Amino acid sequence: MTLGITWVTDWIRLSARVIAEHRVELITLDREIGDGDHGENLDRGFSAVIVKLDALPADALPGDALKLVATTLISTVGGASGPLVGTAFLKAAQAAGKEAELDGAAIVALLTAARDGVVLRGKAAVGDKTMIDAWSPAVDAATAAEADGKSEPEILLAAADAAEKGAESTEPLVAHKGRASYLGERAIGHRDPGSQSSALMLRAASDAAQP
Ligand code: ADP
Ligand code: MG
Ligand code: MG
Repeated sequence: MTLGITWVTDWIRLSARVIAEHRVELITLDREIGDGDHGENLDRGFSAVIVKLDALPADALPGDALKLVATTLISTVGGASGPLVGTAFLKAAQAAGKEAELDGAAIVALLTAARDGVVLRGKAAVGDKTMIDAWSPAVDAATAAEADGKSEPEILLAAADAAEKGAESTEPLVAHKGRASYLGERAIGHRDPGSQSSALMLRAASDAAQP
């Protein structure tokens, strides 16, 4: 079972919905170790995406929809997360290329490109208490699942589960990137908001793929 434009648009709509539902939670997390706007930033961006999604032509490809998310997030979301999450979707769009259907290998390539794009832009490594702590284990789990011959929904489920664990894993950490890095040890005991929102988006990707 390959995944096409329906998966991507369902993923985007579900992401917008979960970000809206978790807006206050993300604001609260960011208030603890940042400036309290993360939920607001992403919700504004995804609301703008949803408006534009309806204007997408009927013959749009997965890459077209992903690119629309990227450009909209980059232009409407302030803060660190706009350019970073926007870059993730831009690199995912480039990885999807002109393909109409994505198999397991293509999905792994898409997730890997997204993660690598965030790393290139933000220079964070695993353990720096950023969204990379969700993205990187997700990519590793997806890669392993694909190598095991798992189906596309199973690959995305593995990625989502790993991203959630990754977000949890940021709680005991000191931050080395972003605003939370100014807090030193005071960031310990708080989950990184960007890792939480990335885990939500990766869960949406999996939910959209489940038969
Ligand atoms: P801001 O910090 O500008 O208010 P947001 O609150 O929207 O932006 O986003 C904060 C999130 O961005 C953090 O929780 C973290 O996950 C992520 N982040 C910040 N800096 C980096 C970076 N250099 N690399 C990866 N992610 C980062
Ligand atoms: Mg913030
Ligand atoms: Mg801010």
